[in-house]
Amino acid sequence: DGMTSDSARRVLLAAPRGYCAGVDRAVITVEKALEQYGAPVYVRKQIVHNKYVVQTLEKKGAVFVDETEEVPENAIVIFSAHGVAPVVHQEAAERSLASIDATCPLVTKVHKEAVRYAGEDYDILLIGHEGHEEVVGTMGEAPERMHLVDGPADAAKVKVRDESKVVWLSQTTLSVDETMETVEALQDRFPRLVSPPSDDICYATQNRQVAVKQIAAEADLVIVVGSRNSSNSIRLVEVALQAGAGASYLVDFAEECEDAWLEGVRTVGVTSGASVPEVLVDGVLEWLAARGFDDVSVVTSAQESIQFSLPKELRRDLRAEA
Ligand code: SF4
Repeated sequence: DGMTSDSARRVLLAAPRGYCAGVDRAVITVEKALEQYGAPVYVRKQIVHNKYVVQTLEKKGAVFVDETEEVPENAIVIFSAHGVAPVVHQEAAERSLASIDATCPLVTKVHKEAVRYAGEDYDILLIGHEGHEEVVGTMGEAPERMHLVDGPADAAKVKVRDESKVVWLSQTTLSVDETMETVEALQDRFPRLVSPPSDDICYATQNRQVAVKQIAAEADLVIVVGSRNSSNSIRLVEVALQAGAGASYLVDFAEECEDAWLEGVRTVGVTSGASVPEVLVDGVLEWLAARGFDDVSVVTSAQESIQFSLPKELRRDLRAEA
């Protein structure tokens, strides 16, 4: 039945997908800094967790380092979208670095919540993934008050000083559903647990999860474009599977897609993480079209218009030049 199955092949493209406002701002920050100050510009950690973005900026003269001490004295250093602990700002000052902070404002918001609750002497339960840069940065705001809770199982183990003074906060890029499970487990243990004043899981993470859910139930396969160290991209694969996708894979580039994935498949869902440029999604759509999947429908679950202004250190220098 070659003809009929061919005509039934389709692609559902999730929207919103790809770049969020925080990633867009962080990438433009590095580009503008390179134009303004010339290469090299140092960037502490990957500016955003995407291989292609990092490679592209490296070609333009950005130098990515893991630690502040790798940056030559007096040089320019940009801090990544995931945020840094206060101690990193001190290290940069000690080396007389000119720092530009590209921390996403929605991460900064969580840092401020941590500082405030620590100041009010709360124990803070930070729901997040051990070792993720954002978690390291947020914990660094109040190391002696923060406890990492990496999933519901950790809720049973965490120790606090006073069970009537506990608040939970979270990493911005978690699974909404899983986080609520963890919160419920924490509430069982600490009935007086305080919730954050507003959502810590950011709008972009939430919107991309809602969007992939809308296509997953109908999809035999969901391809998520994103890097392996991108928390929000990995969550999209998990959410797609939980929402009923037949299979789901994470790819950095179209070249990583495998023909075997398409066996018996009629409907393919496609989406991408918040750090992924659209050109990479285009590549996957071309790969699919070359295999007969050229009927693409966009499934939109939300409109996004949020934008952030560039870091103030950079705006100041751009203005001075103008
Ligand atoms: Fe900011 Fe959310 Fe984007 Fe992270 S995923 S950079 S918190 S908008």
